[in-house]
Amino acid sequence: MEKQTYTVGERVEKTCETCGEERGHVVVSVTKRGQISRVSCPKCSTRSTFKSGKNASGPRASAQAGAPYDRTRTYRTGQTMLHPTYGMGEVTAVIEPQKIDVLFSDRMRRLIHSRVDLIQQSRVEA
Ligand SMILES: [Zn+2]
Repeated sequence: MEKQTYTVGERVEKTCETCGEERGHVVVSVTKRGQISRVSCPKCSTRSTFKSGKNASGPRASAQAGAPYDRTRTYRTGQTMLHPTYGMGEVTAVIEPQKIDVLFSDRMRRLIHSRVDLIQQSRVEA
């Protein structure tokens, strides 16, 4: 089995976190061993790191559609979540750094997010 190597200018499938979509990204830099280090989204020009794994276009651990709502996570407009009470929702707007509007099947609700301080608090209480 030969190790796959890449060159600058090649296209690789990657989920753009800014667009929230998987699309072909342009390789902008590679390591000496031919592994991709940075790619650029052709739509929004966001440059991001590329983690070459077994399967470049495989499912990602985060930012998956329908992942359970987690108030310590940071959401972006367009992301979807599965709320334990309200069901599936989509982030329609980030109101404040720690507040988001989420459209559920019945109505819009304001939720907190990005509350990493809550993790610290519970550690202190425990
Ligand atoms: Zn993009």
